[in-house]
Amino acid sequence: MPGLSQLVTYGDPRFDWAYWSQPDPTRNGRIDYMPRGRVMGGTSSINAMSFIRGSKEDFDHWSEIGNPGWDFDSVLPFFKKSEDYEGGASPERGTGGPQPVSFIRHRHNLSEAFIQSCVKAGMQRVSDINQTSHDGIISYNQVSQRDGSRYGAARSYLWGATKRSNLVVLKHAQASCVTFDGKRASGVSYFRRDKRESHLKARRAVILSGGAFGSAQLLMLSGIGPRDHLTEMGIRVIHDSPNVGKNLQDHASSGHQERVNVPTFNDRNTFIYRTLIGLQWFLTGRGIASSPFAQVVGNCSNDTDEQISRLQILFTPGGFELGVEGPKLFKQSAVAGLVNVHRPYSRGEVRLSSSDPRQKIAIFPNLLSDRRDAETLVWGHRLLRRVFSQEPIAKYSMGEFRPGKDVNTDDEFISYLRGVASGCYHPAGTCAMGNSPSAVLDPSLRVRGVEGLYVCDASIMPVIVSANLSANCIMFGEKLSAELMKKGAR
Ligand SMILES: Cc1cc2nc3c(=O)[nH]c(=O)nc-3n(C[C@H](O)[C@H](O)[C@H](O)COP(=O)(O)OP(=O)(O)OC[C@H]3O[C@@H](n4cnc5c(N)ncnc54)[C@H](O)[C@@H]3O)c2cc1C
Repeated sequence: MPGLSQLVTYGDPRFDWAYWSQPDPTRNGRIDYMPRGRVMGGTSSINAMSFIRGSKEDFDHWSEIGNPGWDFDSVLPFFKKSEDYEGGASPERGTGGPQPVSFIRHRHNLSEAFIQSCVKAGMQRVSDINQTSHDGIISYNQVSQRDGSRYGAARSYLWGATKRSNLVVLKHAQASCVTFDGKRASGVSYFRRDKRESHLKARRAVILSGGAFGSAQLLMLSGIGPRDHLTEMGIRVIHDSPNVGKNLQDHASSGHQERVNVPTFNDRNTFIYRTLIGLQWFLTGRGIASSPFAQVVGNCSNDTDEQISRLQILFTPGGFELGVEGPKLFKQSAVAGLVNVHRPYSRGEVRLSSSDPRQKIAIFPNLLSDRRDAETLVWGHRLLRRVFSQEPIAKYSMGEFRPGKDVNTDDEFISYLRGVASGCYHPAGTCAMGNSPSAVLDPSLRVRGVEGLYVCDASIMPVIVSANLSANCIMFGEKLSAELMKKGAR
């Protein structure tokens, strides 16, 4: 059940790695709670299910900065191949793929009102948020669901493949490092609940898909990373790769909360309603329990000279506060708009805290280290104020209470943001590909400096996509597998 799976997995160590960042000096020293899926399908099995592709401009940019084969025309076939889109096949969309992509099945009246007000504020309403033309559009969200049920990557790809003789899934196994025969990846060491270390031999290649934290950690534990850091940690250097763990990006995000005069998710958070909502979902696959966190998604640019999206806006018919332990719904009727920075300038990093694979990696988000990202959020907040002042959403509003009437000037906004902004749970870029010898990966996703080792997950992004990450990570898997089938792993 989508609603339930978003609530119960969060913070539960059976499903969530539950990372904490280091204090972030760019945001008043705050620390962030960072959930990551510790289940089959990884974070796609616990996420908020928005299914959003990166923009054409994102991928064309990747190609321009030295990653041939990653321009939009080259990646589009893999997006299409991966999906089974409820809206039907078209030159831009695919059907028959393993990943169901559906329209949301619960639309709150205020979501419709919000879209109409965005149109009044100058945005273009579209029926497909994943259409190629990306900037200035607003639409209902699309989700990784079928018939109202969550479809994470494991359910979409793995469940149907479990009977294949060439697939073995080891549950409760944590990889501790890649082993090498000279410079060639020869296998993987791992431990299970009994804590004994075991070893798997690789006949052809090893592919890491541990996510932006897990893959960077595994590379460093395996001796691939910045020489000084590995030496400090007592790890034998296999290849001095200075950028492993660097280039960490996320979409800095901040919320706008309005009290409203009609019931929202906030009014449905009682035992009786939760039971009824659960029953409705069980019988029909519809209703609030099928809803993703965000019902409406849009993209906009804060600079009319640039033809790229700089901001995602989201709308959810429930007001909440993003505390250290995740979103907490307010007690009164409220709605929330969110602004998320696309193409951020700020960069963070991850480093080992220990050579022990059981210890979590140290995360330094530096989320607002570049003032331009904070300025983009300010621009986004002002846009949301414009939207909420337009009919029809305006007639439901009982007043803004975040950021609130005391936050108006640039300086007031920026100081407010340093106190409240957080990431979107979208860490990316820590094993980025590129054409420079110092890039961690080459554009075929091979780890530079060694043989037979690949990375394929959100860590490969040289610049984070202007979208939620999951649809894009699935495309990476399709692309790498097609290339390995064609050329063979080296
Ligand atoms: C609460 C939340 C909501 C989100 N909402 C959305 C959304 O609505 N839409 C969207 O597109 N994105 C969303 N995201 C982000 C998105 O789901 C992730 O960015 C994306 O799934 C990352 O994919 P990945 O393959 O890079 O890594 P992951 O999906 O994190 O996969 C990494 C896998 O590797 C495993 N692993 C790591 N280290 C090891 C090891 N040493 N040994 C063995 N296994 C290991 C992990 O357990 C995990 O299974 C959300 C994230 C969160 C946390």
